Amino acid sequence: MLPDIGPEVVGASYCPLDGHVNSLRLFRTLHTAINARGVSYLPGHRVESITKEGGEFRLHTAKGEVRAAKVALAAGNANMRLAPMVGLEAPMRPERGQIVVTERLRPFLNYPVVTLRQTDEGTVMIGDSKEESTDPAGLTIGVSSTEAERAVRQFPLLAKVNVVRTWSAIRVMTQDGFPIYDESESHPGAFVLCCHSGVTLCANHALTVAPMIARGALDKSLVAPFSARRFHVQAAG
Ligand SMILES: Cc1cc2nc3c(=O)[nH]c(=O)nc-3n(C[C@H](O)[C@H](O)[C@H](O)COP(=O)(O)OP(=O)(O)OC[C@H]3O[C@@H](n4cnc5c(N)ncnc54)[C@H](O)[C@@H]3O)c2cc1C
Repeated sequence: MLPDIGPEVVGASYCPLDGHVNSLRLFRTLHTAINARGVSYLPGHRVESITKEGGEFRLHTAKGEVRAAKVALAAGNANMRLAPMVGLEAPMRPERGQIVVTERLRPFLNYPVVTLRQTDEGTVMIGDSKEESTDPAGLTIGVSSTEAERAVRQFPLLAKVNVVRTWSAIRVMTQDGFPIYDESESHPGAFVLCCHSGVTLCANHALTVAPMIARGALDKSLVAPFSARRFHVQAAG
């Protein structure tokens, strides 16, 4: 299955459901789809505060106010700050990850490997580093070089290729690593959604969670395990 695997590799895991999404193509597709569905996309409208007046949510931004009957907070780690404005909470622990991207190569990796994926364009994405309490804008060369060194041991052909970019980003991570899906008791119509692995979980979000929000309430079977109330261990006990 992986003829280019290196001699140092002694084991592997495989699941036929493993898959890889090309993030650049996903981003373009998302914008094509929201245009086709007539969604109003308002980039650059950072929500500073949320109030509820006359049964209506008012989202205050530097570019003006946005009003809505329902609001779903999906602002990643910024939900920490926004959720309490509508009687919710989102305890997060942001985590930095770094990626190394190679030049385009002939197709050699037909399966996504935990730390390595080849896009349909041929580039190889290397890395799954995890760092807490770091500068979100920073990038540590030592981490990139460790990722590259491990990748070469997995697939020795990577030793001869050029790296074209490296980047870091902050993972959206709840305090226990599992998603938070919650709705407000004090502000009916307000929801909060936080998770890592939003790509892996997107079918659940699009086909299960979004229709519940559209109907106006999350099912008890979803809220019971995923509400942020689970973090109040003593109260839960
Ligand atoms: C290095 C790395 C590797 C990853 N690998 C994988 C993977 O292999 N598989 C996988 O499934 N997932 C992966 N993820 C995680 C995945 O990208 C996240 O689950 C996903 O980005 C979370 O999506 P989100 O929409 O909840 O949050 P975000 O992507 O953080 O989006 C939040 C949005 O809210 C906006 N926002 C923030 N504050 C405000 C505000 N006050 N007002 C208005 N808008 C605001 C932001 O600008 C942003 O557009 C990875 C993440 C990283 C960093």
